[in-house]
Amino acid sequence: MKIKNQDSKVYAAIVGETKRQQEGMEMIASENYVSPAVLEALGSVFTNKYSEGYPGKRYYGGQTYTDVVETLAIERAKKIFGAEHVNVQPLSGCPANMIVYSAILKPGDTVLGMDLSHGGHLSHGHPVTLAAKIYRFVRYKTNALGEIDYDELEKMAIAEKPKLILAGFSAYTRQLDYQKFQDIAKKVGAITMFDIAHIAGLIAGKAIPNPVPYFDIVTTTTHKTLRGPRGGMIMCKQPFAEAIDKALFPGFQGGPHMNNIAALAVALGEALKPSFKVYAKQIIKNAKVLEQELKKYGFKLAFGKTDNHMVLVDVFSSKGVTGKEAEKALDKIGITVNKNMIPDDPRKPFDPSGIRIGVPAITTRGMKEKEVKIISSWINQAITNHTNEKVLAKLHNEVIKLCKRFPLPK
Ligand SMILES: *Cc1c(COP(=O)(O)O)cnc(C)c1O
Repeated sequence: MKIKNQDSKVYAAIVGETKRQQEGMEMIASENYVSPAVLEALGSVFTNKYSEGYPGKRYYGGQTYTDVVETLAIERAKKIFGAEHVNVQPLSGCPANMIVYSAILKPGDTVLGMDLSHGGHLSHGHPVTLAAKIYRFVRYKTNALGEIDYDELEKMAIAEKPKLILAGFSAYTRQLDYQKFQDIAKKVGAITMFDIAHIAGLIAGKAIPNPVPYFDIVTTTTHKTLRGPRGGMIMCKQPFAEAIDKALFPGFQGGPHMNNIAALAVALGEALKPSFKVYAKQIIKNAKVLEQELKKYGFKLAFGKTDNHMVLVDVFSSKGVTGKEAEKALDKIGITVNKNMIPDDPRKPFDPSGIRIGVPAITTRGMKEKEVKIISSWINQAITNHTNEKVLAKLHNEVIKLCKRFPLPK
C-alpha cells in the first residue's frame, strides 16, 4: 500500500480496522463485507471525475466511461428488481428518501410512516429529522401479534388523507403484505413508497418476494444485504421518473460519486449471479436458526419471529439485562450488535429493552446453521453472565477462534 510510506497514522488505522473486522463477529444487521472487486472499483480513478447530470446528458465533458458504469449500474438494477426507472446517484439511504419526499410532496403534506420503536427508520419522519420539520408525518404501529396493524393503517389513511404511504423498516422482522399497502393507498389516493434498505439483498437473491412491481417508488441503500458500496438508489414507475431525477439533481445533490457508482455496478453484477441466490437463502436459514435457538434459551423476540435477516430480542423482559448491558457484554466477547428499542419500549433510547442481531455479514463469511447454533449459545452465555469477566474472556477466545476459520472475502 502507498499509504504505508506516505501516512503511517492512517495506515495504522486501516491495518487496525482490518484486524478488528477479521477477528470480530459482525452481527449489526445493517452491515456486511464487500468483495475485493467492489473495493477495487471504490478506490478507482472514477473518484477524480465530476459528472453532474445523467448518462448522455452531462454538464461537463469527458464522460465516455462514467456513462458506461452508470448505465451498467442502472441496467443491472432494472434487471434484478424489474424496475421501470432507476436512479443510482443518491449518496446514501437518507438522502434518497429526502429526494423522493421533495420530488412528490409539498411542505406540510401528510405522510404515513412506520413508528421508529416499532421497527421504522429515523428518515421516515422521526421528529429529530429535517423531513419532520417540512412534512407532517403520522406514524402507524404493529399489533400484539407482531404484525403491522393493517386495519389501523387503513383507518389512519382514511382519517389523515396522506399524500404518501411509506413502508420500510430497520428493525422489523416480518414479511409485509405488499398488496394491502397498495389497496389502502388506492382507497385514499396516496402514492406508495417502500424503503427496502435492509432487505434489498434478500429481494435481489429471490429469498423474499419482490415488492418493486407493487410500489410507485422504492428506495434502498446499497451497502446492507445487497453487499455493495455505501450508497443509495431510487427505483420508480415511469410517471415519477422525471420529478425524481430533477429532485436529485439539481434539486438536492451536485456531482454523483462515480467511484461508488462503478462499485455499485460491480456489486449488482455479483447480485445477478446464481451464487447470490444461495447467499440470500442462507441468510434466511441462518436467521431462522438464530430465532429458534434464542427462543430455546428463553429469549422473547419482538414481532414474535423473523421472516428476514435479523431478530429483535427483548433482553430486558427475558433476562432482566438492559439493551445497553447486553450490547456491552457481547462487545466484550467480540460479537458486535446494537441496542435497540422494542415496540412501545418503556425504557429510553440510550438504554432500551432490546438488541438487534443480524446475520448478513457472518453469512458472507461462510457461516451456516452449525456456526449460528454455537454463536446463539455464546450470546446466551454472555448475556446471562454479563458481569462475569472470566466467562466473557473465555467466550471471547472462542469467538476469535471461530472467526479465524472464516476469513473476510478475499
Ligand atoms: C439504513 C437505512 C437508511 C439510511 O441509510 P444511510 O445510508 O445510513 O443514510 C434508510 N432507511 C432504512 C429503512 C434503513 O434501514
